Amino acid sequence: MELKVDLGERSYPIYLGEGLLQEASAYFDKHGISKRSPILIVTDDSVAGYHLQPVKDGLQAGGYNVHSFVVPSGESSKSLHMLERIVTASLEAGLDRKSAIVALGGGVVGDLAGFAAASFMRGIAFIQMPTTILAHDSSVGGKVAVNHPLAKNIIGAFHQPEMVLYDVSTLSTLPKRDISAGFSEMIKHGLIWDAEFTSWLEENRERLLALDPQALQYGLYQGCRVKSLVVSEDERENGLRAILNLGHTIGHALEAVAGYNELLHGEAISIGMVGSARLAMKLGYSEEIYTVTKRVLQDFGLPVRLPEHYDTAQIMNAMMHDKKFKEGTMTFVIPTEIGRVEIRSDVRREWVEEVVEQLKREA
Ligand code: NAD
Ligand code: ZN
Repeated sequence: MELKVDLGERSYPIYLGEGLLQEASAYFDKHGISKRSPILIVTDDSVAGYHLQPVKDGLQAGGYNVHSFVVPSGESSKSLHMLERIVTASLEAGLDRKSAIVALGGGVVGDLAGFAAASFMRGIAFIQMPTTILAHDSSVGGKVAVNHPLAKNIIGAFHQPEMVLYDVSTLSTLPKRDISAGFSEMIKHGLIWDAEFTSWLEENRERLLALDPQALQYGLYQGCRVKSLVVSEDERENGLRAILNLGHTIGHALEAVAGYNELLHGEAISIGMVGSARLAMKLGYSEEIYTVTKRVLQDFGLPVRLPEHYDTAQIMNAMMHDKKFKEGTMTFVIPTEIGRVEIRSDVRREWVEEVVEQLKREA
């Protein structure tokens, strides 16, 4: 399957299929990646154990000069320190302006290697090879970044890849928790844009959770398609792109309060999406939105209840850092029906506080 992300001269294809990584060199040839300039594959130590050698072997057999750099798995690798180490590896390997940096891994490796590609020699070619379900989200849109100890994703750039090679066979080695967490963003893409896709997700959840390759390809394709439609309209986040933040205002606050280790990103936004559906009810929208949102998320094994020990005041505080406040109101992405959302800036602070409390009692 192939999907084009439409961004004028920065447009690029996402190739989805089984066994694509073994054929990487044919895709590199097709995209005119230089065989004379060295290529650096960035990956993490979990992914490397399963998938690095076959990719390297395939590219070398195709005549590419391949080097690799392995970072420790986890969010803490998205740091300036690790960026500097990648630049060191790039210089030692002799990368030049015609070189490409390849991200083989999930969103962490994608964001980190993407930022390295955006900044090395003021920008060289970037290729994504996502190995998580969540990375269908990060492979579209060109946002790349590292974290600062005081704020997530705060040092970054927009840098679109040359192509995305999404080999669904790599997903079979994913830990169970990361499988569910990855579906959270896919469900979000259904909830903000496409009611039919949301129903399809519910009907096919067993196949999806069992990593059936056909179902996965279709689900990832649709998830990427929704994100790509939104991003094509608003590449630099001036308006529409904000709808992708459904569940993220509460979700980011939960991640901040948990110190970015207790909840996975997908889990935090799952709870956040239930919170947004509860806020929708406060604004007078139907209870059905809440019922469906919660049911789909639970079907995929995602948490919908906030653990009791999370302090509501701390969560409210974290949200205030994140968002503009105007006389006691806050801005949220609110689902108005399944497949539709609106940005509402008239959400009252006390409703949000009530909803956070209610989230601790979700059944
Ligand atoms: P991740 O990259 O940390 O991967 C999750 C875990 O799975 C890691 O432990 C990793 O080592 C392991 N793993 C990855 N692929 C594997 C495989 N095939 N087999 C076995 N283990 C594997 O995290 P993620 O959930 O993919 O992405 C989260 C990151 O993505 C966050 O940093 C978030 O900020 C970022 N993100 C970016 C965007 C964007 O638009 N740029 C969008 C969404 C999320
Ligand atoms: Zn997200």
